[in-house]
This record gives sequence, C-alpha cells and structure tokens, in this order.
Amino acid sequence: MAWLWGKLTLRRRLKGKEARQELLGYPVASFQPLFAKLRAGIEARGGRVLTDRPAASLARAADGRLAVTPGAAGSFRAGHDPRAFPPADGGEGELYDRVVATVPNDVFARLLDADLRAEVGHAYLGRLGAIEYHAALCLLLELDRRFSPFYWTNVAEPRLPFVGLIEHTNLVEPVRYDGRRFLYVANYLEHGHALLELDADALLARYTPGLRAVNPAFDPSWVRARWLFREPAAQPIVDVGYHRRIPPLRTGAPGLVLANTTQIYPEDRGTNYAVRLGEQAAQLVPAT
Ligand SMILES: Cc1cc2nc3c(=O)[nH]c(=O)nc-3n(C[C@H](O)[C@H](O)[C@H](O)COP(=O)(O)OP(=O)(O)OC[C@H]3O[C@@H](n4cnc5c(N)ncnc54)[C@H](O)[C@@H]3O)c2cc1C
Repeated sequence: MAWLWGKLTLRRRLKGKEARQELLGYPVASFQPLFAKLRAGIEARGGRVLTDRPAASLARAADGRLAVTPGAAGSFRAGHDPRAFPPADGGEGELYDRVVATVPNDVFARLLDADLRAEVGHAYLGRLGAIEYHAALCLLLELDRRFSPFYWTNVAEPRLPFVGLIEHTNLVEPVRYDGRRFLYVANYLEHGHALLELDADALLARYTPGLRAVNPAFDPSWVRARWLFREPAAQPIVDVGYHRRIPPLRTGAPGLVLANTTQIYPEDRGTNYAVRLGEQAAQLVPAT
C-alpha cells in the first residue's frame, strides 16, 4: 500500500508550472535522435557502442578481469535466455575491468558462469530470484477511424481481458503519421498466463468483445494492421517488505554492477528513474 500511495501521490508533487496541470512529453521524432546523439558523444570520447550484440555469458578471466562473450546478432528474437544464444560470428569474449549489467534479474543470473555465481553468492542470487515480474503484452492496432475521444483509458473492470487502452493519435495528431491512427491495447500478466500464448489475430479475437464493451460500434474490420509485443520482465511486482529485498547495485563480485527496474523504489519504474539509476551505477563504477 505504501508503494501504491507513492505511485498515486507522485503526480501531485509536481512543482512549478507543472503543479497546476500535468504535462506529458512526447519526442516527435521518437527516441532515435537521442540515441544517435548519445552514441556520437560516446564515440567522440573514444568509446564503442555495439548494438544488437547481446551478452551470452559473463565470467571471471584468469587475469581477474571480466569476460563478456557475445551471442549472435538477433539472438534475442528467439527468446531471452542468454544460455540459448548461438555464438556470434568470430565472437571471442572481450575483457573488461568493470561491467554494469542493465538486464532483468533472471537474465543476469543466467549470464553468470559457475565461478562468478559463487562470487556473487547465494544471498544476492536469492534476492534476484525472489522478485517476481509480470509480462507486458502490447497489441498495437492501426485503425481506419478513431476508437474513442480519449488518449488514456485505464480499465479496472475484471470482465475485460486487458488493463488499458491508449489511443496514441488522440495525443499526437494523426497528421504526423500520414493520417494513420493507432490504438495500444495494454496488458500486464503473470508468467504462464494463457493470453501470452496467443498470436496477434487470436488475441484480437479474444479482445474484441472487451473492445465492444468500451465502444459498442467497434468492428474488427476497422483494423488495418496489427503488431504484438511481449516483454517478460516488464513490471516488477512490489509486495510487502519489498524494499528489504531490493538487490544492491554492487553485486559482491569485484567490478560487477547490476542496475535494473527492480531497484527503482519507492517510485514505479519509468524512464526518468532509469536515467537516475544509470547515474548512480556510473558513480559506483570506479570504486567497485
Ligand atoms: C508497456 C510499457 C510502457 C511503458 N511506458 C512508459 C512511459 O510511458 N514512460 C516511462 O517513463 N516509462 C515507461 N515504461 C517503463 C520504461 O520502459 C522502463 O522503466 C525503462 O525502459 C527501464 O530502462 P532499463 O534500461 O532499466 O531497462 P530496459 O529499457 O528494459 O533495457 C534493458 C535492455 O537489456 C536488453 N537485454 C536483455 N537481455 C540482454 C542480453 N543478454 N544482452 C544484452 N542486452 C540484453 C533488452 O533488450 C533491453 O533493451 C514502460 C514500460 C513498459 C513495459
């Protein structure tokens, strides 16, 4: 309840101009220009940015540094377990003095080889395993007309099989998308839930009565295109005593830091807090 209270009151703690009315921001050209700028800044300072180069394993090398072995490009499309990633072409492990891992808890635990697991220790691994995530299931529909007049509709009606309707083109006008209209049907589900097994068409069929409950005129013929996205580690579940189980950023293994959404507290996970956490992790790096 303390977490829920925090979530509800956070938006009332806005200061200055925003105190009267909450402002929502939307990057017109998507986040891509920000990422491009960040990459250019890192490279200008001599750093390297390797995209689509997933980590398949982490180990302690003989010289004491950390060895990161890459998986093949695109491995993540077949699943999130790094142990199942095929090796990258010519992908020798690279050695690093420090590693900041920003992957979900279960992915992190699976990256570690036996020796590094022992360094991190049972107590830390136990904390990682004790935090449950709910999966996000996000059905994106392109519609030939407006679904509702609202941008964001939270759905708390248990009869309806989804938890939110976000009609993006009621926030950002369709003219920015060549007149196209988009509706996200949002859901958060416990792992193993039957809806997570459905493909986009089966899910749309399953959702249609619920969409009609919100707008009785809705017909699947309005749907021009659809896309389905699943993220298994979307929402850490905050339960009683959660703050006592949050894994510290320092993993206990020298040089190895973990920073992910389970460490955001008492706020709920969000991009602002990911940036704050990244700064905290970066400050720890020299002394870890
Ligand atoms: C449906 C949804 C809607 C959201 N809406 C908002 C919003 O409107 N505003 C907001 O502020 N926040 C929102 N959030 C929350 C926000 O997305 C997260 O808080 C933020 O992305 C967390 O950043 P992160 O870097 O910790 O994790 P992530 O952004 O999840 O980054 C982790 C990265 O690790 C990568 N990865 C996984 N395994 C490996 C591997 N083996 N090797 C290499 N990389 C790997 C993943 O592909 C991923 O890119 C939303 C989240 C969801 C799920």
